[in-house]
Amino acid sequence: MTIRVGVIGTGMIGADHVTRLTTQVVGAAVTAVFDVATERAQQVATTANATARPSWEALVGADDVDAVVIASPGPLHPDQAIACIGAGKPVLCEKPLAATSSEALRVLAAEVAAGRRSVQLGFMRRYDAGYLDVKAAMADGTIGEPLLAHAIHRNATVPDFFRGEMSLTDSLVHEFDIFRWLFDAEVAAVTVLPVKASPLAAEGMRDPQVAILQMAGGEVVTVESFVNCQYGYDVRCEIVGSLGTVSLDNPRTTVVIAGGRRSENVPADWQSRFAPAYTRELQGWIDGLAAGVVGGPSTWDGYAATAIAEAAVTSYAKGERVAVRLVDKPALYTD
Ligand code: NAP
Repeated sequence: MTIRVGVIGTGMIGADHVTRLTTQVVGAAVTAVFDVATERAQQVATTANATARPSWEALVGADDVDAVVIASPGPLHPDQAIACIGAGKPVLCEKPLAATSSEALRVLAAEVAAGRRSVQLGFMRRYDAGYLDVKAAMADGTIGEPLLAHAIHRNATVPDFFRGEMSLTDSLVHEFDIFRWLFDAEVAAVTVLPVKASPLAAEGMRDPQVAILQMAGGEVVTVESFVNCQYGYDVRCEIVGSLGTVSLDNPRTTVVIAGGRRSENVPADWQSRFAPAYTRELQGWIDGLAAGVVGGPSTWDGYAATAIAEAAVTSYAKGERVAVRLVDKPALYTD
């Protein structure tokens, strides 16, 4: 059985997803793409032996599209996801689910009204071998009771359109999701601390930043966000437990010892660091669809991460701790 996929948005990650679905994932074929950048869409369509469609609505409604990947800019995700839910088509929606929690709740309400899960969020870290090992060590008692965590999220540089809030809403949204998943708990409050700005930060951009997450169970997570660190892509964390710690480092690379120095490479970007996780994410999604199941990170997870990001933006603006308030969790997401 081949799942026929339509991809909305053929920019950086949309084009990557098309390539993966076409060349690495078993049981999928990309039949349709759409992008407002029509030339880019046509180029990507040609590489996948697919066709570019005149609008995202036409793609969602097409008879030769069984499932949809949404890889357009974040604010467009709610309308596109709701259209997929309405058409009865499962969707892998890139993060963030929405720009605001009220927009995220629109998607949640549409899915709850439909009575079944259609949406999987693109929180691919949950498919990364390193994070899976960390979760296992937290669950099996190796480090005793997990108490706190320290995390680092650094990008060498970011595009010109990237502004201060986006390091919270677009980058740290991954951390917000992964620590909810690792601790199996919601975030109760977030505080964003001002840090002396790097002289290389874009004008008006506060970079780096530190966020403190207080989990509902009392655990605390400190997260550094530094999106112009210059030297590479560096995502790490350490969980501190009552008996020990478990750390996630960069994937093992060659170590060179020469001339009195010991050195190893740092990943250049998120594409290389998380490549296997993206493939596992897509393969898991397709395998689930073939079995009639939508699993993985849910619309609830997307809503919760957006609500934390929103609280973080408020904290950033006001310079104070902000509580994260979520609506009651619908039964659809309680398993
Ligand atoms: P990108 O390179 O800017 O690609 C987005 C594409 O969508 C662009 O080609 C853009 O065209 C197009 N677009 C604009 N309006 C559209 C519309 N109405 N319908 C369809 N396409 C439209 O951005 P990206 O980095 O690929 O990011 C896309 C999404 O994926 C974002 O939500 C981002 O946060 C997420 N993402 C997730 C990860 C991850 O690790 N999971 C990594 C990267 C990105 P124009 O350029 O002409 O506007």
